[in-house]
Amino acid sequence: MSGLCPICNSFCTVELICRHCGHQAQDLGRFTDMLGPYSPYRDIEDLEMTHADAASTDSACIHVCECPTCRESFLVGFNEWQG
Ligand SMILES: [Zn+2]
Ligand SMILES: [Zn+2]
Repeated sequence: MSGLCPICNSFCTVELICRHCGHQAQDLGRFTDMLGPYSPYRDIEDLEMTHADAASTDSACIHVCECPTCRESFLVGFNEWQG
């Protein structure tokens, strides 16, 4: 009954644009995959949520993105496709 994230399933490609410098950012993977005792992203709670808002977080697949140009990391929530 879980939704399908278009990014995880390669249904489409999404351009991730860095808010700071405007260059293309990279998708580093799912936020939930980053969690763990050895996660380098323990401080990710400090990162701002960009596309995802509180109302849609429950049904969104949260991805960690990083800009290779200015090293800015941020989270993007993709609404999962129901199917
Ligand atoms: Zn995903
Ligand atoms: Zn940047």
